[in-house]
Amino acid sequence: MLANYGFQDGSGDWFLVIDTDKCDGCGKCTEACPVNVLEVGPDEYDPFREEPVVKVREEERKKIRYSCASCRPGYGEKPAPCVITCETGAIFHSEGWKLLYGK
Ligand code: SF4
Ligand code: SF4
Repeated sequence: MLANYGFQDGSGDWFLVIDTDKCDGCGKCTEACPVNVLEVGPDEYDPFREEPVVKVREEERKKIRYSCASCRPGYGEKPAPCVITCETGAIFHSEGWKLLYGK
């Protein structure tokens, strides 16, 4: 399933999306993130899942637009470190960033 972490406001939707079917909890994206937005832990969306999964740290969820802005995430020429690092394609950003940075 798609786990959405972030918020929506008048300027757009600012979510980091994890495809939990593709995420194996390897933690490589957490190491690649320069500002410690991500962590690996229990799946909050599926209490029956035993394997850990990556998620946005709780204290980052209301400010993720600003935390992730340093990476200028979108679908442009230089994808964010977390996106580049994930070998299974499990992590991406929502439309707000695509509109703002994707060229
Ligand atoms: S790199 Fe990909 S598979 Fe590994 S924890 Fe991050 S999102 Fe999950
Ligand atoms: S976009 Fe940058 S700051 Fe945001 S989670 Fe990915 S690596 Fe971390």
